[in-house]
Amino acid sequence: MTHRVAIVGAGPSGFYAADGLLRGRPDLRIDVIDRLPTPFGLVRAGVAPDHQGTKAVVRQFDRLLTQPDLRFAGNIEIGRDLSWDEVIQSYDAVIVATGMVVDRKLGIPGEDLPHVWGSWRFVAWLNGHPDFRTGPDLSGVKSVAVIGNGNVALDVARLLAKTPDEMTKSDIVAEAGAAIAAAPIADIHVIGRRGAGEASFTTNELAEMGRLARAVSVADASVLAAEAPASDPTPERLRKAKNIETLKRYAAQTPGEKPVTVHFRFHETPKAIRPGEVELSTGTLVADLVVTCIGYTGEPFPQAENVFPVGWARRGPSGTIPTNRADSHAVAKQVIDFLEDRDLKSGPDIMPLCVDAEGWHRIDKAEVAAGAAQGRPRVKFVDWQALLDIAQGD
Ligand code: NAP
Repeated sequence: MTHRVAIVGAGPSGFYAADGLLRGRPDLRIDVIDRLPTPFGLVRAGVAPDHQGTKAVVRQFDRLLTQPDLRFAGNIEIGRDLSWDEVIQSYDAVIVATGMVVDRKLGIPGEDLPHVWGSWRFVAWLNGHPDFRTGPDLSGVKSVAVIGNGNVALDVARLLAKTPDEMTKSDIVAEAGAAIAAAPIADIHVIGRRGAGEASFTTNELAEMGRLARAVSVADASVLAAEAPASDPTPERLRKAKNIETLKRYAAQTPGEKPVTVHFRFHETPKAIRPGEVELSTGTLVADLVVTCIGYTGEPFPQAENVFPVGWARRGPSGTIPTNRADSHAVAKQVIDFLEDRDLKSGPDIMPLCVDAEGWHRIDKAEVAAGAAQGRPRVKFVDWQALLDIAQGD
């Protein structure tokens, strides 16, 4: 007999927490629970499908699934299959790694119009999340407004700007890839409410916007000229200085030089959205599609002595995937300290029938095989029932 820990959420912060627990207490029994039949959360559903290098982190997580005392429990929804109370009562400790999967709202008129999409919903569609089977109608979309100046805004702009050739090595779902390829997109406006110096783009991701086959990135040189040079070289200031340098290079390019122009715009706050346009603090912009990339919120979860939030559920939607490693290891250490000298909770295994690691590996194998036939990393199954059937070996 040993302590049992439930990790609710099989995304990066959950797996890094499992890793931290097993390093400190290899004897623990750990259940990693997810409402989807597939593990890896944000990596599978939120990381841009053309960033396969970032997605490769799942190999580390998949290795954990082979540990004898770590069980994957997919297709288990807390609130439907088990209650939070049952989980909290039955496990010695519960790590909440549910992330943040609800798009934040701008809070302006017109936000609920059908051509306005939150980035979570939009990227989940591209990534084949089974709850997001339908995307926006792109058939008449010439001009796109991407609201926000973070890396998610860059992901959205880049994915809309790339050619099918640039996406061949991605795992974008075929329907979404075809819709983007067929769309008459000519202008993508990436809109920040503050200045270029305040944008949270990271250096490599912003530079990638300068290497797109069919898109030219541009910016307004006069807006960039007002940005003060970095005086004190902290890593954060260096990042900002590099961003300004990159944007100045973009400012020297000509709009329309390639079929798609990505316009980096600053000091423009959205005030209202109407069909076909966005009203900004600086004037009206034509936009057939609006994608808000302004961060996420999460679902509430109960507080209790043995409940430990981790990752975005703990600290909000910031930081890259590797940022979660140290954070999750620190929370795992707190859990290990908490369990020290605690009596074991006795009681039966409450886990209902679930998709286990073997079931996931059947899905994985089938997706990778379907991808190999097309020279792609994988072709995702996007239908709930199909995923469950494959997991069961049907
Ligand atoms: P983010 O970096 O926090 O950017 C959110 C953006 O939304 C900011 O520019 C913010 O502006 C803007 N915003 C918020 N509320 C707004 C409003 N009401 N009106 C207009 N603009 C508003 O978040 P993110 O892009 O969602 O990314 C989340 C995390 O994932 C980040 O840590 C990011 O680096 C990471 N990520 C990494 C990668 C990668 O490494 N390739 C890819 C995607 C995401 P203000 O600054 O003015 O608040």
